[in-house]
Amino acid sequence: DLSNAIVAQDEMGRPFIIVKDQGNKKRQHGLEAKKSHILAARSVASIIKTSLGPRGLDKILISPDGDITITNDGATILSQMELDNEIAKLLVQLSKSQDEEIGDGTTGVVVLASALLDQALELIEKGIHPIKIANGFDEAAKLAINKLEATCDDVMSGENFNDYLYKAAKTSLGSKIVSKDHDKFAQMAVDAVTRVMDKERKDVDFDLIRLQGRVGGSIKDSQLINGVILDKDFSHPQMPNEVLPKDGKDGVKLAILTCPFEPPKPKTKHKLDISTVEEYQKLQTYEQDKFKEMIKFVKDAGADVVICQWGFDDEANHLLLQNELPAVRWVGGQELEQIAISTNGRIVPRFQDLTADKLGTCGKIYEMEFGTTKERMLVIEQCSDSKTVTCFIRGSNKMIVDEAQRALHDSLCVVRNLVRDSRVVYGGGAAEVTMSLAVSEEADRQRDIDQYAFRAFSQALDTIPMTLAENSGLDPIETLSTLKSKQIKESLSTIGVDCLGKGTNDMKELFIVDPFIGKKQQVQLATQLCRMILKIDNVIISGKDEY
Ligand code: ADP
Repeated sequence: DLSNAIVAQDEMGRPFIIVKDQGNKKRQHGLEAKKSHILAARSVASIIKTSLGPRGLDKILISPDGDITITNDGATILSQMELDNEIAKLLVQLSKSQDEEIGDGTTGVVVLASALLDQALELIEKGIHPIKIANGFDEAAKLAINKLEATCDDVMSGENFNDYLYKAAKTSLGSKIVSKDHDKFAQMAVDAVTRVMDKERKDVDFDLIRLQGRVGGSIKDSQLINGVILDKDFSHPQMPNEVLPKDGKDGVKLAILTCPFEPPKPKTKHKLDISTVEEYQKLQTYEQDKFKEMIKFVKDAGADVVICQWGFDDEANHLLLQNELPAVRWVGGQELEQIAISTNGRIVPRFQDLTADKLGTCGKIYEMEFGTTKERMLVIEQCSDSKTVTCFIRGSNKMIVDEAQRALHDSLCVVRNLVRDSRVVYGGGAAEVTMSLAVSEEADRQRDIDQYAFRAFSQALDTIPMTLAENSGLDPIETLSTLKSKQIKESLSTIGVDCLGKGTNDMKELFIVDPFIGKKQQVQLATQLCRMILKIDNVIISGKDEY
């Protein structure tokens, strides 16, 4: 095989052949390979495991350049870990896909996948073929999901749907840094989603919900703002700090501009020579006339406020002030778009194009001040009919603000998921126990080799309630057997781990619910990943060979 060979020439021009040595290519085969994959997955999962549930612990992540992140979110922890094992990287991908599709349950999915792999390893050691195991797991997963679907509750039928949304949001926040203020955050998530959701299509466009954080104050000061916040102030200190609709208008009118308040520059090929005072004055008048013309365009269109992507000099600023046109300069492109959406206005690239129907309309614009600090932000509060909201998050340092944003994002996802599909299952491992029981019952019925895979699958599901129990300081095995016997005896699928010691196992009573589609996704993704890893029997790391 000459594909590894290269023809080279020595200093005399004589050709010779170099054959690449493959001795340094790392290779693992068969069972050995599988074992090492599974061990790698296990080590990742063991880091994540202690974060699961309301009593789960947070992690501090320190990046190579010293940035510190404190988080409880599985996807975030994994994405910041520097892993050099390929299989471990697959787990990172797994939590990422859960995050992208569902947004919550990123820790649980990894714990479940690694439990499945652990179980698979035992079966492999017993001599069952990996593909056989993978097929058995697939069947078991189908059965588990069917059972889940049969036992889930549809909360849409109830009158207080919003109550449910609130409670589900609260469950997802239980383990997060904001848990002390989870009432507030849960309400914020529900309000944000219900305000922007499309009731007919039953969907929520997350582009309409902005998460904005700012260090300072405390988490309690976080609030939902009906509109857009800009980290800016009006361009001139004498401009008013609150603009209300003028008489007879239905709102404050905004001109949203991407053209600068500058006279058109002479093209580079022309040279501008100014040699006399008259010439200079002529130029100055010309500039002033241009400014006046621009301001006239704005005024004629009926604008009350100018939002501009570019800066403008003192001359222009002064003219704006004189003409009672409060203005904001250097507004970023993305923010400009948000403002346009929120105020139902158009972004206008040329002054000539400005007309009344292109102006945005908002309820009011005001400068928001923060306590003792002199910091200010501009709030563009919208009229009732348009929709974009900003979740404005405060916190005493950047780490807290960031983690609070992630937590809020999770609960926004939970609420959105329920808007999309209003079926819920019960948390605290209740859903997993129900599935586990169904799968192990089926295992008892089977005669062929699949029964092993089914039993293994059922045990992997048990890992979730056991981990929740362990993280809450309860005895995992004892807790699990109590849950199982209770679920069987009372044929109730709402019995789960009482992580916070509230004195009851009934998750329905405690209102600990997870969206059905999230749980389903967890089971499906974990099973798929397990199949993928079981099918790998050869890892070849290329690019490391030497001559
Ligand atoms: P994930 O990133 O997977 O969402 P979490 O750390 O948020 O992980 O933990 C979620 C798990 O904790 C879910 O199984 C949920 O049902 C459970 N859980 C959340 N709050 C409670 C609670 N108060 N009591 C019992 N279980 C809870």
